[in-house]
Amino acid sequence: MEINSTRLWSRINELGQIGKDQQGGLTRLAFTEQEHQAKQLLTTYMEGAGLEVREDQIGNLFGKIKGTDPNARTILIGSHIDTVFNGGIFDGAAGVLIGIEVLQSIKQQKLKLTNDIEVVAFTDEEGARFSSGMIGSQAFIGALDVNDLYAYTDQFGISIAEAMKQQGYLPEHVSRAKVDPEKLACYLEVHIEQGKILESKQVPVGLVTGIVGLRWLKIKLHGEAGHAGTTPMHLRKDPLACAAEMIQAVETLAKAEQATVATVGQIKVKPGGINVIPSEVEFTIDLRDLSDPLLDKLVDRIRQDLKRVATKRGITADCTVIEQSQGVKTSETINHAIASAIAKQNLETVELPSGAGHDAMVVAQITDVGMIFLRTKNGISHTPEEWADKDDLAMGAQVIFDTVKYLDLQNNG
Ligand SMILES: [Zn+2]
Repeated sequence: MEINSTRLWSRINELGQIGKDQQGGLTRLAFTEQEHQAKQLLTTYMEGAGLEVREDQIGNLFGKIKGTDPNARTILIGSHIDTVFNGGIFDGAAGVLIGIEVLQSIKQQKLKLTNDIEVVAFTDEEGARFSSGMIGSQAFIGALDVNDLYAYTDQFGISIAEAMKQQGYLPEHVSRAKVDPEKLACYLEVHIEQGKILESKQVPVGLVTGIVGLRWLKIKLHGEAGHAGTTPMHLRKDPLACAAEMIQAVETLAKAEQATVATVGQIKVKPGGINVIPSEVEFTIDLRDLSDPLLDKLVDRIRQDLKRVATKRGITADCTVIEQSQGVKTSETINHAIASAIAKQNLETVELPSGAGHDAMVVAQITDVGMIFLRTKNGISHTPEEWADKDDLAMGAQVIFDTVKYLDLQNNG
């Protein structure tokens, strides 16, 4: 291997000490002393590796190696170092530290690359403190202005802007964090999978084909309340029985597709008595897939099914899309580079979509992105038990190292 797995592992553990909370996990929220200390530690790693270090106006921390061509663009590698409340040491941190490891290895081997290679630790991806995530990457692409920084507050009523000021940042200057997209060649991100696919396939790394799009639906059903003892079955207009049939139909629809996931996570029943036929039911559907046309088709199918089932049962039904986001595909060129880097390690290339959002989803709005996932023990994350193995992290770093070399040749001139 060309990367130093021992160095990478010791840094994972060292950074994993900053922000330790009472429950044995990590709570390292944006614009706090813990986050500041974490960035100081990253700065010492970056400076020790001989990188040019800078921080932008939203607190994104960068370390760069200049390429041999002064006009060449930047290959950016990164993730985030903030955590959720009581999170683990790998989510985000693994991607940032792998980025630093890759750059340090390039430096040590005195590789001459054409492009600038840069690592970034984005500010506040999780959104745990202000309930608004991806602040750093959004500022980076120019999608965040100073008003946004006053719009969100933490549990104590402190706005992002005020929290920034407390740490010495100037919220009024946030627009200066915007990158010139012309100067970016691409963005690469390594992240723990937070799922069980790689573990079940027994491979350390996976190629992420994209970040899924999402549709949230709210369905309201009106029937007729009645006495559970005196109303015969054939005279009922029971919205909960209607909901049950629909929930089953939604599960069947999703199972018929390759990778669609559908979840009913909320249901409200009125009046909610043990001996009363309900009069009203409200439930939600969370629908995700890489393909937006497919998601739209499935929403149409759900509406049709709902109409059919509700009419049959004498129920009034209403279906509203309350939230939606578009799926993002990773770049085919980058995926090809990643696949050959994986093949070089004699590993099977397992392709999988990301069911969760990441900074790469935001950065994809301005440049090509590529992602790899690392095997996550039992698929769990956002808890102190979150775990990735030392060897898997090393494999992730090696794959990114080879991917960068490959892409540098592609982006030559
Ligand atoms: Zn993350």
